[in-house]
Amino acid sequence: MSYKNYPMVSRVVFGRGSFNQLGDIIAPKRQNIKAPFIFLVDDVFKGNSWLTSRIPIAYNDQLLYISADEEPKTSQVDELVEQIILSHKDRPSGIIGIGGGTILDLAKAVSILLTNKGEAKNYQGWDLVKSPAIYHVGIPTISGTGAEVSRTTVLTGPQKKLGINSDHTPFDQVILDPELAKDVPKEQWFYTGMDCYIHCIESLNGTYLNAFSQSYGEKAYQLCLEIFTEDNLSVEDSQDKLMMASWHGGMSIAYSQVGVAHAMSYGLSYLLGTKHGIGNCVVFDHLEEFYPDGVKLFKQMKQKHNIELPQGLCSNLGDDEFDIMIDVALSLEPLWINAVGKNWKQIITRDKLKSLYQKM
Ligand code: NAD
Ligand code: ZN
Repeated sequence: MSYKNYPMVSRVVFGRGSFNQLGDIIAPKRQNIKAPFIFLVDDVFKGNSWLTSRIPIAYNDQLLYISADEEPKTSQVDELVEQIILSHKDRPSGIIGIGGGTILDLAKAVSILLTNKGEAKNYQGWDLVKSPAIYHVGIPTISGTGAEVSRTTVLTGPQKKLGINSDHTPFDQVILDPELAKDVPKEQWFYTGMDCYIHCIESLNGTYLNAFSQSYGEKAYQLCLEIFTEDNLSVEDSQDKLMMASWHGGMSIAYSQVGVAHAMSYGLSYLLGTKHGIGNCVVFDHLEEFYPDGVKLFKQMKQKHNIELPQGLCSNLGDDEFDIMIDVALSLEPLWINAVGKNWKQIITRDKLKSLYQKM
């Protein structure tokens, strides 16, 4: 057996207000005055000078506002790369993503596609990226996905929703400034926070579990309990801790896998465009038989925070549409092996998945 040799984020800053240091941090990475930094910023911050006035634009640097209403697509990555190449003679000095998982994943993918020929869809999979990406920096503004620390960037392509998993994907630099999450709406805070909780449950209850994943997963799980089930934290402490829970949750799945909720939520996302955080919640709510304790606690947290999940997402779907979701879910073999073991095909039949989807 050979063990995987994973790269990690090579530099990280943590602290409230650390975003102010962005200019100092990236300055040494400027190749020359013509080679710009490209800032990809969630358009929720457009007109928000508290944040945007601190983005250190100089020389030919470019700021692109990007909507996070839809999850990243391979075609969107290709368009951004083309736009950047056409607007600048020199290859950029770096790509800086400021936002949630959607923007962080776009920043990672764009930095890879600027140095690797062809289209983004050709790199969806494992270890297909040949050349190192350009310098890329991730600055999360909402916590939970673990995208800031992971080795993948999840993209929806013409044929599949699948990540670019590679040694060149992780950020060269991450800035963790919990203050940036101060205006996240409550529902979104819950959905994206639950992504972290579900990463923990799926990792800790998976067949791939090992001491590496467990150590990170248990820490993230414990932080989630403090944040979502107790009332002892100040707003600031809660933001700080959720940012670290996201980090640990992401590290936990690096050396294991996610499970049933993620497999099925990829199906929802592919067919209906349901976003990751909310989709995971919708699915996880019906997974008692796979994760009895995790789902029980999830329902309590949902109630405590007055979260109403959407119902009936699949109520008007036809058989072909169920088939599409089922195909996407079943294609994620490692997730099923992790969730139910090597003989998963005996348990996870098409009928089983259909009956679960019909409840959602
Ligand atoms: P998101 O980036 O989709 O953002 C959710 C919403 O929150 C958006 O409306 C956004 O504008 C808003 N928002 C973000 N920061 C805000 C702030 N500070 N104030 C106010 N509003 C703010 O949400 P997400 O849940 O972080 O990311 C989901 C994406 O992450 C999906 O595309 C999913 O595939 C991806 N993902 C990636 C990984 C990975 O390892 N690469 C892991 C899990 C999920
Ligand atoms: Zn997730």
